[in-house]
Amino acid sequence: MQSVNPATGEVLQRYQDHGPAEVEARLARAAATFPNYRRTSFAERSRWMARAGELLDAEKDRIGRLMTSEMGKTLKSAIAEAEKCAWVCRYYAEHAERFLADEPVETSASRSFVRHLPLGPVLAVMPWNFPFWQVFRFAAPALMAGNVGLLKHASNVPGCALEIEAIFRRAGFPEGAFQTLLVGSAAVAGVIADPRVRAVTLTGSEGAGVKVGEAAGRAIKKVVLELGGSDPFIVMPSADLDAAAKTAVTARVINNGQSCIAAKRFIVHERVYAEFERRLKAGLEALRVGDPAQDGVDVGPLATAQGVEDVERQVTESVRAGARLVTGGRRVPGRGWFYAPSALADIPPAAPAYREEVFGPVALLFKVRSADEAIALANDSVYGLGSSAWTNDPAERERFANELEAGATFVNAMVASDPRLPFGGVKHSGHGRELGPWGIREFVNVKAVSIQ
Ligand code: NDP
Repeated sequence: MQSVNPATGEVLQRYQDHGPAEVEARLARAAATFPNYRRTSFAERSRWMARAGELLDAEKDRIGRLMTSEMGKTLKSAIAEAEKCAWVCRYYAEHAERFLADEPVETSASRSFVRHLPLGPVLAVMPWNFPFWQVFRFAAPALMAGNVGLLKHASNVPGCALEIEAIFRRAGFPEGAFQTLLVGSAAVAGVIADPRVRAVTLTGSEGAGVKVGEAAGRAIKKVVLELGGSDPFIVMPSADLDAAAKTAVTARVINNGQSCIAAKRFIVHERVYAEFERRLKAGLEALRVGDPAQDGVDVGPLATAQGVEDVERQVTESVRAGARLVTGGRRVPGRGWFYAPSALADIPPAAPAYREEVFGPVALLFKVRSADEAIALANDSVYGLGSSAWTNDPAERERFANELEAGATFVNAMVASDPRLPFGGVKHSGHGRELGPWGIREFVNVKAVSIQ
């Protein structure tokens, strides 16, 4: 395995993969750790989790540089990611005990209640796009619930994977409570099938979701899937157009365009369409593309060579199918995997950009005549992760909240994950929820206890 700087294509460091013997040793350690770890108190686990948060906060610059060097996000956003991880650690350190408290239920027995018990070792298969946040939002609740974690991180971010393992150890968690498996995706099915592993979570592409879901199904194991999205961003005539257009630019290019909840399809009412397109184009063209470690850069490279090739193909084929290029539509010449902030309009249903998730800084514009049409178009996707709707009409807000097929609807704001709110999708965006009380209850045995 190796870390490659996406801004230059240079190999930064090589890592020895974990072979079968090392994987076996780590699985054995996870299984051996669990019986003692589950008996630790919430107070002990909270102390360790809060300490992990302190380390993340104290070392956010160094950690941010690691993320930027391995996957190309801007340093500012990488530092903010480390801070957000510290927040989710503090959040669960503070609230986990309450979220998992016994719940009394009235029955004919003298006493009945629900108890939330840990399951055991949980495997997390994670992506590179938010290389710390995706892991911490799984690990903070899972470890606070008394489970132990095994991380199979994306193969292009081994440095982040090992750093996260080190943070939990330094925070005081027992050896074996959280371990990284440096393995490729081919090893995942075998780990899922291992009887010591009790559940699985994946954040990644739809294709990986199918494979992990299949393997979990075969082994009859609980699985949470957080997959792709092609989130709609609807703009109605009553919206504050200036705020909508500015947020649209940010929402599309966040993380260099590689976020599952980035706004990808801009569905705009015809009365404000021309002005919105003009502002979006101007906003995209004003962005500074360059070295993500430099101050003032808005958009860095895509994380992998494959990523930039995929986006290039999707745009080229969409233009060939009849889409109009509003701006961009090309790689940035020179070293690294940069793609210019771009926009496509008049996209026909046959174009890849209409159906597929575009994981890069490419905005897709659509013109509609009514809220009905906006909702129908927004829902004409296999995905259903987030959605954003811009309107000051209370009736329209209600309709969007009720009728958009998505795990989240944000009104007059961009979609963002928040430790206090549930996060997840419907349709091919996956199933299960992370964060809040909902996330911590995904990997527990909801046990009925009834005392006669
Ligand atoms: P992948 O889904 O391929 O990778 C995510 C994780 O899944 C990685 O750890 C990867 O391991 C693992 N994985 C991949 N294939 C399998 C498999 N067959 N069985 C088990 N594990 C597997 O994402 P990519 O990096 O290839 O990105 C491709 C597309 O995925 C993007 O264009 C985007 O559409 C989507 N994506 C969505 C994300 C989201 O946040 N929803 C995040 C990342 C990607 P390994 O790295 O070793 O292959």
